[in-house]
Amino acid sequence: MAVLGQWQYFPKTHIAAISLIVISVIFIAGKQSQSQQKREIQIVTVHSDPIEEAIQVEMADPWQETKIKPGDSLSKIFTRYSLSAADALSIAHKAPKNALQLHPGQTIKWQSTDSNNVTRMRIETSRLVAHDFTRTIEGKYEYQLDEKVADRRPKFAQATIHSSLFLDGAKQDIPQSILIEFAGLFGWDIDFALDIRQGDQFSLIYEELFLDGERIGFGNILIASFVNRGRDLTAIRYDDKKGHSQYYDPSGHSMRKEFLRNPIDFARISSRFNLKRKHPVLNKFRAHRGTDYAAATGTPIKSTGDGKVIFAGRKGGFGNCVIIQHGSRYQTLYAHLSKFNRKARKGRRVKQGQVIGYVGSTGLATGPHLHFEFRVDGVHRDSLRVKLPKSRSISKDQKPAYKAEANRMIEWLRSQQSTQLANDDSLESNTRLR
Ligand SMILES: [Zn+2]
Repeated sequence: MAVLGQWQYFPKTHIAAISLIVISVIFIAGKQSQSQQKREIQIVTVHSDPIEEAIQVEMADPWQETKIKPGDSLSKIFTRYSLSAADALSIAHKAPKNALQLHPGQTIKWQSTDSNNVTRMRIETSRLVAHDFTRTIEGKYEYQLDEKVADRRPKFAQATIHSSLFLDGAKQDIPQSILIEFAGLFGWDIDFALDIRQGDQFSLIYEELFLDGERIGFGNILIASFVNRGRDLTAIRYDDKKGHSQYYDPSGHSMRKEFLRNPIDFARISSRFNLKRKHPVLNKFRAHRGTDYAAATGTPIKSTGDGKVIFAGRKGGFGNCVIIQHGSRYQTLYAHLSKFNRKARKGRRVKQGQVIGYVGSTGLATGPHLHFEFRVDGVHRDSLRVKLPKSRSISKDQKPAYKAEANRMIEWLRSQQSTQLANDDSLESNTRLR
């Protein structure tokens, strides 16, 4: 969750980008001919930059720029502006992968000569990151990464829920990305669709990112607190010794819970996740989006994680079936049960390892087995291979440092809450705030 909801300055990977550029550069090389770029001669102040001095330009060429359009590549841009295809190739060769993963809205600036050689090029992938290319006398390119660091400023916000986390949060100007991250932090403990009550309160300190005095985005939530039906939950961001950031409760337990890999002990896996399996009963090709565990009827089945039962009943070919929601992103499904455990009723919370039902062969099943599914964000994943979220509590040796930091953060949040209180005229909201 630590990575979810964070501002993304770095574009997604487009693996084929480089090879595409290389191919299309070769393709367009032949039709590279006309060059009617209007250029003005400019008098420019002299830089003492050694790279700049090495550039073979008698006159300063004006900067040109363009915004990346959907489907753009470096070679397409070079073609559009009649720039040297060979230069496109040289720049692509010199550029790190992420510089060539162009996304709509990014900016490319360049200077070029009469012969359409690019003397300087700057690919601005975000407000913070730019890739600079400078042509050398040999016609090669020097590459330089220009990375700025945003100024992170903490911002306090709080709200009382009248309708929903998102509506009441938005009223307090809390950005949506932060609210999504906030919901994710507590997603293992609170069902934001069902558990929320009027009068629940939340407060948090998150980072706003500034560059040259202008807000350019949002950083991390540093501390978040939620009072849900009298339950007081707090999540604190903490970097461990290795520099990994995670959220913990005040006593050092991870906010993220973990999963067992298998819902049954000592069972044989009789069928794996396979998107092209021939169904044993239907005798048709049909994806098998789960893992089958062959076991005797009556073998107990355990919930693989803490969560909430969102379905327990008959479900077509699944027969007797239990579905459990874990946090905001994960669901597990258990099918063909002979019977349910009484405690695994719809709406009930279950603990990891708790028995929710027993192996059977209800629904479409050739023999007694458990059909188990693992879904992440609604997508079926191979439960035997999926990377399960890690949950590590603060280790013993790091506990004193964590406790000190946690107390400091909690104090900070409280002091912000009381400052807000003092500023608040409304008696009603005074009584609501703790
Ligand atoms: Zn199955």
